[in-house]
Amino acid sequence: MAGFDKIVVPDGGAKITVDEGKLNIPANPIIPFIEGDGIGRDIWKASVRVFDAAVEKVYGGDRKVHWMEIYAGEKAVATYGDGVWMPEETFEAIRQYLVAIKGPLTTPIGGGFRSLNVTLRQVLNLYACVRPVKHYESVPSPSRRADEMNMIIFRENTEDVYSGVEFRSMSVEAKRLIKLLKEEYGMTQIRDDAGIGIKPMSPTGTKQLMRKAMNWAVEHKLPSVTLMHKGNIMKFTEGAFKDWCYEVAVEEYRSHVITEAELWDEAMADDGVTPIEKPGAYADLRGGKPAGDPNGRIVVKDRIADSMFQQIQTRPSEYSVVVTPNLNGDYISDAGAAMVGGLGLASGANIGDFIGLFEATHGTAPKYADKNVINPSSLMLSGKMMFDYMGWTEVGVTLENAIQETISQKRVTYDLHRQMENATKLSTSAYADAIIENMK
Ligand code: NAP
Repeated sequence: MAGFDKIVVPDGGAKITVDEGKLNIPANPIIPFIEGDGIGRDIWKASVRVFDAAVEKVYGGDRKVHWMEIYAGEKAVATYGDGVWMPEETFEAIRQYLVAIKGPLTTPIGGGFRSLNVTLRQVLNLYACVRPVKHYESVPSPSRRADEMNMIIFRENTEDVYSGVEFRSMSVEAKRLIKLLKEEYGMTQIRDDAGIGIKPMSPTGTKQLMRKAMNWAVEHKLPSVTLMHKGNIMKFTEGAFKDWCYEVAVEEYRSHVITEAELWDEAMADDGVTPIEKPGAYADLRGGKPAGDPNGRIVVKDRIADSMFQQIQTRPSEYSVVVTPNLNGDYISDAGAAMVGGLGLASGANIGDFIGLFEATHGTAPKYADKNVINPSSLMLSGKMMFDYMGWTEVGVTLENAIQETISQKRVTYDLHRQMENATKLSTSAYADAIIENMK
């Protein structure tokens, strides 16, 4: 056991390991957690009680999580000293223990980090950001079609304009790059006083993401995978992203998939009539246009990013798995979250080859910190994802059902309360109590 400086390894727990390419989960796993800043403190306190209660409910005393606190953000500074926002042993603990969960973190101003979250994702190569967007019954929504929404977004997590390669307007670096681009590549359209950002996107980053998304679609028997991109404008980055994703789908998952174009052709070849006239069982996945029957295969299709924002509002049921570059993924997941109840319910995970770091997707909402009012469902539902990832799916089901039941009883925190009629407003801790009470 590597000795840590400040991290205390709990007695009685065991490490999650990788055996023959698969996670091996002991009955008493040690799971590191980062409490998080601001409302992180409120939501962690509530969530950990709910997690322990769900594990106890499902397995009696046969399985138990041993939580191990690791540090980042303000608590890291308080624990390790000034300027230490992200101690090296935090990365090391996650590398060693493989599955971890975290609350939101303040982005330090002038701390040498663009963002602590982005740093965690990049250093640990957590290349897939996975965000389910699912509507729970009774949750108020501004959208008339919210109940049709059940999408899971796979957002590339390490490249794109998030890579941190940016140069300020008039800096030496920006000026040199502009000169090079003008003189060597004839890019005369760039203004001399422009700031410059670089958007790297690679087949390596893209394909590893697409494999995660395809595996998910296959395992969960989902109807479609949509590639969301802006390749009509950014041909060698987002356009290439789309092409690389299609390559993975048809070269590595051939028996599971049919592309939308193939489906169209099949519909014509089949009976010789135009596809538009053929009544297809899969019509709803083609924007209402009839097409062929995919015979249980996953339809792989692509959509331009901007159109996706109206598509998810007008025809959410046509989208199941969505695969997209980093920035698009950031935008579409918040837009999706808004449709299904807001950030208080938005869960997420950052996943690499084996490491899974589960997190509430919202920020630290400082004005609500330590007030015991905020909605902890985001972290609780991220916990559900974590238990699913560990293969403890019964715990995930118990958690999700109890949250659903509590919301259906209209016992909710302030954020949902202000949008619901005749609801009971609960504090964060009372909401956790209600969820525990509703565990069956
Ligand atoms: P935010 O913390 O997400 O809060 C924005 C608003 O979203 C809140 O005022 C609240 O809206 C609502 N909200 C967020 N979490 C909620 C919850 N659990 N329950 C109910 N409502 C919730 O965004 P921000 O104010 O822009 O960012 C604050 C800090 O967080 C910044 O330092 C930022 O860098 C950081 N941040 C961290 C992460 C992360 O660690 N993953 C992500 C994003 C931002 P109402 O006031 O309308 O109720």
